[in-house]
Amino acid sequence: MPGPRISLAQLHRATGAARPAPPAQAPFSGQWRFDLQQVDGSSHPTVADLSECLFFSPGDGRIWLQDQRMVLMHAEALGGLRRELIETMGLDKARGLLTRMGYLSGARDAELVRRQWPDAEPPVAAVAGTRLHALEGVVKVEVVRVSYDAATGDYQGEFLWHNSSEDDEHIAVYGVGGSPACWMQTGYATGYVSTLFGRLVLFREVACRSAGDAQCRVIGRSVELWDDPQEDLRYLQLGEDGPDAEPAAAPLDAWTERGAAGGQDPTLVGASSAFNAAFHMVRRVAPTPATVLFTGESGVGKEMFARSLHRSSDRAGQPFIAINCAAIPETLIESELFGVERGAFTGAGASRPGRFERADGGTLFLDEIGTLSLVAQGKLLRALQEGEIERVGGTRTLRVNVRLAAATNENLRAAVREGRFREDLFYRLNVFPIHLPPLRERRDDIPLLMQHFLDHYRERYQRDVPGFSQRAVKALFNYGFPGNIRELQNLIERAVIMVNDGELIDVHQLFRGGEELGEGVLSLQAEGGTGGRLVGTPEGTAVGATQMPGQTLESAEQQWIAAALRRTGGNMAAAARQLGITRATLLYRARRHGLPVGRNARP
Ligand SMILES: [Zn+2]
Repeated sequence: MPGPRISLAQLHRATGAARPAPPAQAPFSGQWRFDLQQVDGSSHPTVADLSECLFFSPGDGRIWLQDQRMVLMHAEALGGLRRELIETMGLDKARGLLTRMGYLSGARDAELVRRQWPDAEPPVAAVAGTRLHALEGVVKVEVVRVSYDAATGDYQGEFLWHNSSEDDEHIAVYGVGGSPACWMQTGYATGYVSTLFGRLVLFREVACRSAGDAQCRVIGRSVELWDDPQEDLRYLQLGEDGPDAEPAAAPLDAWTERGAAGGQDPTLVGASSAFNAAFHMVRRVAPTPATVLFTGESGVGKEMFARSLHRSSDRAGQPFIAINCAAIPETLIESELFGVERGAFTGAGASRPGRFERADGGTLFLDEIGTLSLVAQGKLLRALQEGEIERVGGTRTLRVNVRLAAATNENLRAAVREGRFREDLFYRLNVFPIHLPPLRERRDDIPLLMQHFLDHYRERYQRDVPGFSQRAVKALFNYGFPGNIRELQNLIERAVIMVNDGELIDVHQLFRGGEELGEGVLSLQAEGGTGGRLVGTPEGTAVGATQMPGQTLESAEQQWIAAALRRTGGNMAAAARQLGITRATLLYRARRHGLPVGRNARP
């Protein structure tokens, strides 16, 4: 298996990898309100505190770092894995994998520190990561300087790395030369500090023993403070631009009528293993014509993944047509899907094509497919089996070439057992199922998503919002996100609108919509001082955010829905998005509260 010994420089030429890591930018500048040079060995958690989290339990074959299972492994074995990765996948992909592996490890350690020492000052908690990294036997970290500006949330740090285990293994195989090689460690630092601060803090190795320097030197900065973070982000984030990315496909406006303008940012963001697993499945199936069934709770991003599937396929230049089956009245679904000929029924004044025809050559995405009536299911099955459709009221048979992606948040097998879903259609759809995890199972992605949505809404609303307060970060990590990514997106959109320019987002700007807050979030909210503070409700009156005297949950819900409908001019889809619920749920609840939804109920 081992190949001839080659230098890293040769390897770079062979793999065409760009030479990364330009020298550090201008040194630290600005007024730092908290300088960490004073943090000494006695600030908690100390190395001794952290060591006490480590338990060996050989009797049952386990090692624990508090509640996380650890493995004691030969550095050489890890080095062997690293070498095989480089030689089979190329330097670029191997680097991406190891960076993300380090990121996960760092994110876990940050959660440990946050849980065990909830009162540690942010900069002290940040330094605890360097101690954990040393305790785990990875590298000895020497802090050169670390600064954290509590007002802006900006972070900058500079460190020296001694005895890097990755360098030892890299140099043993490839010798010295080329570019920095402490990829996993850089990922760890990024994952640790980003998770702690709830915003992306990118680390870059600007000097490395593997590159011939005397020691490794790393710089960490909030992502906005880097001039050129794209290269680093590429390794970190297996999004559309990840190292595995296919060549860029169709232009934005060709995707669909509901493009980025509809408020849905097209980029998939994530680095967690659950996210990566789903993403790899999409990449794997994309080039085939197979039908894909996305499953998962509401708000996990099923349509985003379907779009990604389309963009990675050879149909990328053709239309992507999405339809939410739950949003179309049963009487109209057939004409929506298959089109209608003039005069087919009252009101059909002109012939028009259905979604199948419009998706010809491209991808058709049917969301909430479990809500289709049995009649519509039968027609859909025929379209899939025969590859042909008939418009409602028409006599011509039209051939269509459509790749189908479907999604559901219910258990279709159970629906089949209960007779609500056709078994033959189920098997037709379930060719390649991809389960998308809820946000609570990919918590490592929360800081990346927070950063992503913050950037998005800052830009969209032209707001100068530097970031999140530490309290807000903790609250978001403690929250259960029943509405998943869409809910996180809504919370951040709302907060960006609420917060004053130049101020950090705090807890009370995030949680205002009647979320069911657990103890962990409630205490932070109380601590946030909303108690005596007056904040606006959707009605524009002022009441305390944590208590709404004289209001039942029912009437509060009615007011929120009415306010959202007013804000969006009755646009159901937009109002549903703002409220973090599906359009079908909104319709149901609005009707239950007797709110007018008539004409606007049409998509
Ligand atoms: Zn290094």
